Amino acid sequence: MLIGRQAIVVGAGIGGLAAALSLAQRGASVTVLEQAPALAEAGAGIQISPNGTAVLEALGLGAALGGIGQPLAALRMRDFARGRDILRMNVATAKYRHPWLLAHRADLLAALESAARAAGVRIETGAVVAGLVGGGRTGVSLEDGREFRAGVVIAADGARSRLRPLIDPAPDPAFRRQVAWRALLPAAPGAAPEVQLIVGPGRHLVRYPLRGGRLVNFVAVLERPDWAAETWQQQDDPAHLQAAFARFPEEITAELARLETAHLWGLFRRPAARRWVQGRVALLGDAAHATLPFLAQGAVMALEDAWVLGESLAGSDGVEAGLALYEARRRARCRRIVAAADRNALAYHLALPGLRQAAHAGLRLGERLRPG
Ligand code: FAD
Repeated sequence: MLIGRQAIVVGAGIGGLAAALSLAQRGASVTVLEQAPALAEAGAGIQISPNGTAVLEALGLGAALGGIGQPLAALRMRDFARGRDILRMNVATAKYRHPWLLAHRADLLAALESAARAAGVRIETGAVVAGLVGGGRTGVSLEDGREFRAGVVIAADGARSRLRPLIDPAPDPAFRRQVAWRALLPAAPGAAPEVQLIVGPGRHLVRYPLRGGRLVNFVAVLERPDWAAETWQQQDDPAHLQAAFARFPEEITAELARLETAHLWGLFRRPAARRWVQGRVALLGDAAHATLPFLAQGAVMALEDAWVLGESLAGSDGVEAGLALYEARRRARCRRIVAAADRNALAYHLALPGLRQAAHAGLRLGERLRPG
């Protein structure tokens, strides 16, 4: 059904490139419009859980997974005081059917870009989409005045999507009274591929190695009442991060002390879209369901969206029916995941010692009762 059909994808992030590949593999002729002047991604670490690598394998990237990231061995949740383990999940022996990867975002994007280009996807950089145009064929207008028309438009233009308000007018994003730092530290290769989540009153820190341990990735979240701009590109003095996490385990504070740069951003919450589709235009990835980064599922949901989008369009009679099916198959699951990430924000930051101990005991019990 998609053979020869033209598709426009707005945004060459993880969601946009995966969607472009998914559509091209089903016969669509795809153009990706990306506002950045070049596809260079500054980002840092990203966990790709098995539901995400399942999509990458289905998209034909199974052989490339080794170049994208390193398999995760264990997940440890630790208490900030004395650093003792609250729980430990041995991922290596958990027998997932697909790997769980610790990846550098740039490596995932590079693999998706090269697979998309090999499948015939055209990628236009420096193409800032300004709005939608209607008429016989749906399309988009660019800030430079150009217009692109196609049979279907996928808006994968991220959390601050310009196209989403045209489909699902949403309230302004709300500041969550939390800020986050992210930082990368060069390290000696060979570190155990484990994720550490260390929780404390009003704060938590996630640490894991990247690129075989040559880098250590940190994301550190702190409750803070004030913030100005919603951006995650702001440089901050690492001394602020070091001071906020000074009571964390010694080996962590020693690593933080070596940081020369850190990025700081304010965490904003926007409700998931109530409506994902209008005519032959659909939202995908963060544009539809941006999430707080407390469950490591934002990019993975975008990958799932991309696969289901391709399947739904290829298996339906007409674009409108295919997009309606895509929304119906994705909306409830994404809402659940976004809500679960919100709950983690509360659970990680409990301040009262008695409450924290009870919550940790509950987590340990839940892990023991988990079916193997
Ligand atoms: P984006 O990555 O935001 O891509 C949108 C693209 O659209 C960009 O390239 C942008 O330049 C382009 N664009 C925007 N506007 C326009 C326009 N007008 N015209 C043309 N192009 C436009 N997720 C996980 O699954 N696992 C993790 O471990 C994880 N860790 C994270 C850690 C941090 C610190 C953060 C901030 C997020 C993390 N996430 C994680 C979430 C994940 O990064 C996002 O959910 C994911 O990047 C969303 O992909 P996307 O393609 O929908 O949007």
